Amino acid sequence: MRVYFGGIETETNTFSPIPIGLAEFEGSEVLRGEQIFDPQYGQKMARYARSLGLDVVGGIYAAAHPGAAVSREAYETLRDELLDRLARAHNENPVDIVALSMHGGMVAQGYDDCEGDIIARIRSIVGPRVVIGCVLDPHSHLSDVMWREALLMCYRENPHIDIAERSRELMDLLLRVARGEVKPVTSVFNCRMADVYQTLREPMKGFVQRMRAIEDSSEDVLSISVVHGFRRADIPLLGTHVLVITNDKADLGADIAERLGRELFDGRGGWADPVTPLDEAIRQAKAWDRDSEDGPLILADLPDNPGGGSPGDATYVLEAVLDAGIENIAAGVYIDPLAVQTAIAAGLGAKLRMRIGGKACPLSGRPLDLDVEVAAIDLNAKITLGPDTLVPMGRAVALRFAQGELVLAEQRYQTYGPSLFADLGIDLKRKRVILVKSAQHYKPHFMPISEHSVVLDAPGVCVADVLELPFRRRPKPIWPWEEDPWADA
Ligand SMILES: [Zn+2]
Repeated sequence: MRVYFGGIETETNTFSPIPIGLAEFEGSEVLRGEQIFDPQYGQKMARYARSLGLDVVGGIYAAAHPGAAVSREAYETLRDELLDRLARAHNENPVDIVALSMHGGMVAQGYDDCEGDIIARIRSIVGPRVVIGCVLDPHSHLSDVMWREALLMCYRENPHIDIAERSRELMDLLLRVARGEVKPVTSVFNCRMADVYQTLREPMKGFVQRMRAIEDSSEDVLSISVVHGFRRADIPLLGTHVLVITNDKADLGADIAERLGRELFDGRGGWADPVTPLDEAIRQAKAWDRDSEDGPLILADLPDNPGGGSPGDATYVLEAVLDAGIENIAAGVYIDPLAVQTAIAAGLGAKLRMRIGGKACPLSGRPLDLDVEVAAIDLNAKITLGPDTLVPMGRAVALRFAQGELVLAEQRYQTYGPSLFADLGIDLKRKRVILVKSAQHYKPHFMPISEHSVVLDAPGVCVADVLELPFRRRPKPIWPWEEDPWADA
């Protein structure tokens, strides 16, 4: 079996002020050819396929952290390289499988459906018989061309702790299909809603368990996925879908998809933790007693989560914490390259008045002028999430000030985990309050530091209530904009 592997991943927030061009991909992650199999930075699905003894050709894999619609030039350049490499590999020796790792939530200038565009072009290169498969982030958008031309599997978990597992499952399915052992048919149910689904908590935890139980209970059910959708993209494809792949049992698949989809709709608004308004979060932080609670309180800055396309330099929460006089805090990771450069130029131990945050866009709030000491510098900073999962943060600094410590970095990523704080000498467990620039992916990694956290709402690019955003091109009818999108059905 010969497999071509590739992918282009980003999650587009069409309301984001952060431009995404080639430099954002190059600065984040671009792997070509054999780099894709690198034991530390490589792609798990490609490495897994090779470990099975398959002839795997590495094409191109590129990823950028979420921001605005990808520039047309960047998108077409990366797409065409992925297709050119595929065409060359296929001409040399025909491939049996094209395996893709994509986010599914990418929008580019002039392209609402990047993944559908790529899959359709792949189909025209390889012809009708080659198996195309794509693993997707559930925060994706589903188009008909995607599921008609490719076998799709979303990660089940949100936060996405099962990427490697799902990638292996997809590769196993693609192999079965390529060997002719099963005849996959995809059934789709459109839930007419756009919601947030968190799988570490009930009721979504149980919902995922039931999905797996249905898969396990029948030989005919090959895979079930929920495309959650991503509510920061103003495009006609927005929305939640259930996707069931059966072994040539379209009616069974459609029944399961509708049953699960209606359950999701019936639970609308209840699949995620409610967010806490900023003033209430500050009240809780002010009253927090870290000793009796056995750990710090984590405040998660959802509206300025770079993982949703925010700049990561907003100061609303920090300003409120400072105004409230809360001491012994650690806050980060603020994305402020100019401040990092200033601190490094001043040098370790330097004491200076510095302007922090509030630069990237009007929703970044006002910059804060603080008296700080440069407490630590890391010229090659990273957030370590596991032995083979490192998030490169560029250069980073820790700044000590009257009420605690701040961590600033150059490279824009959400605060996935606590390791960078430790690398910079900050003992998070001894802090009273921790601010993180993340909405929920911090949770599994910060759990050993503290189980107490509050996801808060404030002004920002990723403000919690999507009804506040100026949507113009979304589908209709769809909840929560329309109270009953099934009224005419
Ligand atoms: Zn996601």
